[in-house]
Amino acid sequence: MRDSEKVLPVDGNGYYGRFGGAYIPEILHRNIEDLTEAYRTYVGTDEFNEGFGRLLRDYVGRPTPLYRADRLSEYYGTGVYLKREDLCHTGAHKINNAIGSVMLARHMGKTRIIAETGAGQHGVATATVCALMGLECVVYMGATDVGRQRPNVERMKMLGATVVPVMSGNRTLKDATNEAIRDWCCNPRDTFYVIGSTVGPHPYPEMVARFQSVISEEIKTQLAESEGRDYPDYVIACVGGGSNAAGAFYHFLRDERVGLIAAEAGGKGVETGETAATIHAGSEGIIHGARTLVMQTADGQIVEPYSISAGLDYPGIGPLHAYLATSGRSEVFAINDDEALRAAMRLTRTEGILPALESSHALAVLDRRRFGADDVVVINLSGRGDKDMETYLKYL
Ligand SMILES: *Cc1c(COP(=O)(O)O)cnc(C)c1O
Repeated sequence: MRDSEKVLPVDGNGYYGRFGGAYIPEILHRNIEDLTEAYRTYVGTDEFNEGFGRLLRDYVGRPTPLYRADRLSEYYGTGVYLKREDLCHTGAHKINNAIGSVMLARHMGKTRIIAETGAGQHGVATATVCALMGLECVVYMGATDVGRQRPNVERMKMLGATVVPVMSGNRTLKDATNEAIRDWCCNPRDTFYVIGSTVGPHPYPEMVARFQSVISEEIKTQLAESEGRDYPDYVIACVGGGSNAAGAFYHFLRDERVGLIAAEAGGKGVETGETAATIHAGSEGIIHGARTLVMQTADGQIVEPYSISAGLDYPGIGPLHAYLATSGRSEVFAINDDEALRAAMRLTRTEGILPALESSHALAVLDRRRFGADDVVVINLSGRGDKDMETYLKYL
């Protein structure tokens, strides 16, 4: 793993332009300091790299294929590759970060792992790695999400994790995150908080992006083999908090030949108010320890987000993506529920791959924007659709 500060547009205090930082209560200062110190001295060492690399290969199944989708390419008249994070163990990219984070926790001597989860993918990934490493695991999950992602709840329980349904707010990811932070404040000594995306106070966004950067590292190698050049013309990824996108963009962030495209969840439409499109509908504020774009009222109350997809149903966005979007480095589309559903059906019927609802938002960009016949377009297929079957059956 290479040194992130040479690649990420982040300064020593965790600022991406004016976004990021660490806005945390006094009681967490020590935790964050210890974490930052451990991250700086352990992640990236030969010892860490060896263990992380081995687990990514033998346990997660990396490298994941970069699959040239011929029928989809023909349909859209451009060259489409799918980065198959859906083939990772546990079904999404989240496991990359869970392994790196829990390795760091173990290195720090922590015995208890807590996590928040939306779609349940991060909870499952964290519970999986805790089972693997023999650590206690507590997962906070909004009660609404517990209802709509039942298979993942059962998986976490079977893996030995305690799932705590959160009853506050609209009972989704934001509320679960609040509860996890509260737990961390109460149990600073033995507990390590594994955040599931490139959100939260510094150093989390940088750390999670770095654990996910293996995605673009592999894309480079794989494109060099298949296309004879180690970069695409475009990379498209969906953005909830931004971790799969950060991983897919990472090694191309400073390469202006590569267009970076983010798909956020439009919900029922940005103008309806029932949306999770933070970049389109948000304004600058602070959420979960970072200055970033936030969906909020004029007096700073968080607006409840809405998306058909539990993994994108978040009223904030990682500071890296707030920076990329406002500086013009990334292009951002708000993809509505119905567009994502159509894109999911198209991929399933043209390639025999059933995508996660989150990833379907990235696929739907192909319906919104034209790409050239000779373009190489890489779509990060962040996860598989098994967990979304109930939703798909209801709407399709
Ligand atoms: C959690 C999740 C996402 C959204 O999270 P990011 O941090 O933005 O990547 C996207 N796709 C899948 C399959 C997920 O599980």
